[in-house]
Amino acid sequence: MRWGTAACPLVAVGALALGGPGGVAIAAGQPAAKTVRMHSLSPGDTVYVLLDGGGHSLAVVDEDRGEVVLVDAKSAGWGQTVMDAVALVTELPVTTIINTHGHADHAGGNGELPPTTRIIAHENAAGASGPPVTTFRDTLSLLDGPNRIELYHFGPAHTGGDIVVVFPEKGVAHVGDLVNGKAAPVIDAAHGGSGVAYPETLARLAAEIDGVDTVIAGHGAMPPVPGVHGMLQTMTWADVEEYAAFTRDFLAAVREAMDAGLDAAEAAAALRLPERYAGYGMEQAEANVRIIYDELRARREAPQ
Ligand SMILES: [Zn+2]
Repeated sequence: MRWGTAACPLVAVGALALGGPGGVAIAAGQPAAKTVRMHSLSPGDTVYVLLDGGGHSLAVVDEDRGEVVLVDAKSAGWGQTVMDAVALVTELPVTTIINTHGHADHAGGNGELPPTTRIIAHENAAGASGPPVTTFRDTLSLLDGPNRIELYHFGPAHTGGDIVVVFPEKGVAHVGDLVNGKAAPVIDAAHGGSGVAYPETLARLAAEIDGVDTVIAGHGAMPPVPGVHGMLQTMTWADVEEYAAFTRDFLAAVREAMDAGLDAAEAAAALRLPERYAGYGMEQAEANVRIIYDELRARREAPQ
């Protein structure tokens, strides 16, 4: 099927019309302008993934409570497109946006949703803007029954205010930008991110959440599942565990280089990680080495 190229402004295709197992795939938006692709996460479920226009979003349609909860609102200028997409699958109102963190490609659309929409963000997510923001420190629960949502903050990593959004009854989690696919993470040190804390934060995530097998990250390709209409490939819990180990081994290698007397540029050039990470993108590696050096130096120089 084609996306966003139809002559009419809205394209809706239901899996039922096509027959067979699978989900719903929808594109919403103006032709050749803004289009988000929307896929149901599993057949018959009411959790949808919205791709494009910023970080990957989720929309949860809670028929019992008569409301829709969004995870991330995409970049500024995309709020209406997100609303149009949701309106293709339900008439229920979006009441709540959960921001996985404050970056503009996740929270930029906040202010473009109806002013009655509640924003939920971590208390350190300074960039989350728009209608009044409800914040929390460690955990928060929303909805109930099959759509129950548990929010967790495990510590600094990508930013100082990252949230993990877990649907325990569905075995689904949105990890925001804590997991950068199979690539070294982006660390926003200016907004509380930490290369030294990153492994501890992901180790807590890996240890304290059980029963999740479908993981959506904030970015990265989500190719179609072969032979199943509308369904997308997601990350697994094993991917999260491997990523936690990657950040741990990365930090260990940088510490070793520092202890050997290398400067940050030399440490980045000399960085060697175990073979299991050979496929990892390392575009962020040098930046991360420098961030870790700055943090370790600050710790060593701090008065005891
Ligand atoms: Zn981010």
